[in-house]
Amino acid sequence: MKLAFIGLGVMGFPMAGHLAKAGHQVTVYNRTQAKAQDWAKQHGGSHAATPADAAKDAEIVFMCVGNDDDVRQVLNGTTGAFAGMSAGALLVDHTTASAELARELDRDAKAKGLGFLDAPVSGGQAGAETGKLTVMVGGDAASFARAEPVMAHYGRAVTHMGEAGNGQLTKMVNQILIAGLVQGLSEGLNFAVKAGLDARKAAEVISKGAAQSWQLENRYQTMLDGKFDYGFAVDWMRKDLSICLAEARRNKSALPVTALVDQFYERIQERGGGRWDTSSLLHLLAKP
Ligand code: NAP
Repeated sequence: MKLAFIGLGVMGFPMAGHLAKAGHQVTVYNRTQAKAQDWAKQHGGSHAATPADAAKDAEIVFMCVGNDDDVRQVLNGTTGAFAGMSAGALLVDHTTASAELARELDRDAKAKGLGFLDAPVSGGQAGAETGKLTVMVGGDAASFARAEPVMAHYGRAVTHMGEAGNGQLTKMVNQILIAGLVQGLSEGLNFAVKAGLDARKAAEVISKGAAQSWQLENRYQTMLDGKFDYGFAVDWMRKDLSICLAEARRNKSALPVTALVDQFYERIQERGGGRWDTSSLLHLLAKP
């Protein structure tokens, strides 16, 4: 298929790479052109000077940028992706953004004769590189059926969650779970150290029981080493939690732990840890 991919960051670069490796004809756009050139050199596809040029003639336009405003910037205006897309084409947004934005884009796309899916991902840089992302998708069933086999090149679990916005709502659930989990893990590991236990041994035995989690298995060693300069950045997490908290105000669900953990992440940012991994919550407990 003729595809476009906009936004070659930590996630987009390898995701677009999987599409090219699968034999699709991929044109990429990145705001910082050097990254697009690198990508084309590595994967043999082509790169365009604007989102509109990348989107021209593409059957599906994928994007993975930062936040709601970034999505609007690359889509709208004379050089935006919408300007280049032809009727019948499909837009798939992998950015973690608000459900409101997804519904707005769904309306805008339909008015232009285009399809739209909100399709945020989970699995981090490693998942993007190994092609094992979880993809949570909102939008109409026909658009999902069209895009699902393509997203399968980088998604291990690609699931249709219902109407536009539902992909983003599912990703919010994911982030709410992670916030509470990582705080619990930080408190547990800090307690183990202060109690004089061999914290690594404690983490290993616990990971075989009911407190097992992805965060425990993949993060306890680096957390105990005080290494946080990798992974999913606290700045991104705060963006995501602010989306969750705003949605919770609308749907009147209570997120007391999430709100508290969001404040803890703010403290991490004040320590200069905006680019640290989300597991850095332990830093606040170990070095108050
Ligand atoms: P990143 O490495 O910072 O890359 C962001 C990409 O978006 C870059 O290509 C950047 O272009 C582009 N961009 C940002 N704002 C733009 C704008 N206004 N106009 C044009 N291009 C713009 O971010 P990432 O880690 O790939 O994350 C991308 C999205 O995936 C975010 O919504 C994030 O929350 C979500 N996500 C990330 C992870 C993760 O582990 N990293 C996991 C799950 C979900 P430049 O190169 O020019 O800056």
